[in-house]
Amino acid sequence: MLEQVILSVKEADLICFLVSARDGLVSEDLDIAKKIRKYKKNILVLVNKIDGLKIELSTSEFYSLGFKNIHAISATNGIGITILIKKYFTTILSKTLQKNYKNSLYPILFKKEQDHFRFKEDINTIKIAIIGKPNVGKSTLINSILNEKRMITDNMPGTTRDVVWNITSYKNNNYIFIDTAGIRKKNKITNKIEKNSVKQALHVIKLANIIILMLDATEVISDQDIILFNYIINQGCGIMIVFNKYDKISKHDKEKIICSKKLKIMNIGKVHFISATNKLGIDKLFISINKIFKHSIQQINSFKLTKIMKLAVDKHQPPIIQGHRTKLKYAHLGQRNPLTIIIHGNKLGNLSNSYKKYLSNHFIKHLKIQGNPIHFYFKNNNNPFSKSISKQ
Ligand code: GDP
Repeated sequence: MLEQVILSVKEADLICFLVSARDGLVSEDLDIAKKIRKYKKNILVLVNKIDGLKIELSTSEFYSLGFKNIHAISATNGIGITILIKKYFTTILSKTLQKNYKNSLYPILFKKEQDHFRFKEDINTIKIAIIGKPNVGKSTLINSILNEKRMITDNMPGTTRDVVWNITSYKNNNYIFIDTAGIRKKNKITNKIEKNSVKQALHVIKLANIIILMLDATEVISDQDIILFNYIINQGCGIMIVFNKYDKISKHDKEKIICSKKLKIMNIGKVHFISATNKLGIDKLFISINKIFKHSIQQINSFKLTKIMKLAVDKHQPPIIQGHRTKLKYAHLGQRNPLTIIIHGNKLGNLSNSYKKYLSNHFIKHLKIQGNPIHFYFKNNNNPFSKSISKQ
């Protein structure tokens, strides 16, 4: 625990040193002050549990710790939190962040829903979340990547946090690994793994560019894994399937996994086999992450998309329904990250799901994109007086 605290202190841009207004200044506070002072960081003393007490009276004794920034809060009642964010976090952190992570938006500054999207769209850092059932090795992988024991994975009280942001660079690229330690802890409390894995995915999909769906290579693929996979695909996120604990299986087992029916359902590109503990397969993982991200933000012109679409139609015409054939006229890019293609034509509402699936596979193949689901919007424009839009 101490090792991890020191690591966090070394890496932090701002240290919030929490003391209790109810206990007053205690000898442990003086010990901590002595320990953190030597790192020469921005230190903010937060005098907590201020509810029902006189602010000035309760904070004055903490000035003897020798730090000039002291702010009173009540974590349970939310007193002083807005000022904490606006005055301290935003001003102190944005200065450091502008310096360190050019143009990168920081989660602490999120206020509105659209900030999540702005954060996701910032292409200077690739945001990755690892999701999967408990014990598949998510934290171990992040620790291996960061090369340090940075995450607190035990069950000690006070260690529960919702999301941990691990900013790192690997071969000159910036990455943010979003860890959902806190959400996992809540899983344990409710013990409804299925529901909470989806909840976890729901939360991170808003923020991540790529989701690593981690599975345990020693266990069979469960229905829950497939539910999670479909959920991610439908929400539109880059996705990688990663089997961990490769060190524990034989080549024959690996072949069995690759040939399994359930994996075929999750057909989205390259499947990775890694060992988080032995740091096996990590390089290849990053190569795929970069590729998936590059594909998700590429600009594709309408000419190319229309050509690919026409090729698909030439190969396999949409069926005739009640004497009318659906016509696909042209295609263009609607949005990147996730890739969204808009197709214009006639009677597009008649397209079956299997034809849409065929189109999706065809585009993925011809655009040579990996790990990125494509979303389609179908726009009827045969009659300018009746516009209709349908989404796959
Ligand atoms: P999480 O709940 O998904 O975050 O899982 P943890 O990272 O806490 O790992 C669960 C257990 O699996 C721990 O005992 C790890 O040491 C072990 N583990 C993780 N990765 C590997 C691996 O690559 N190989 C083996 N043999 N064990 C692993």
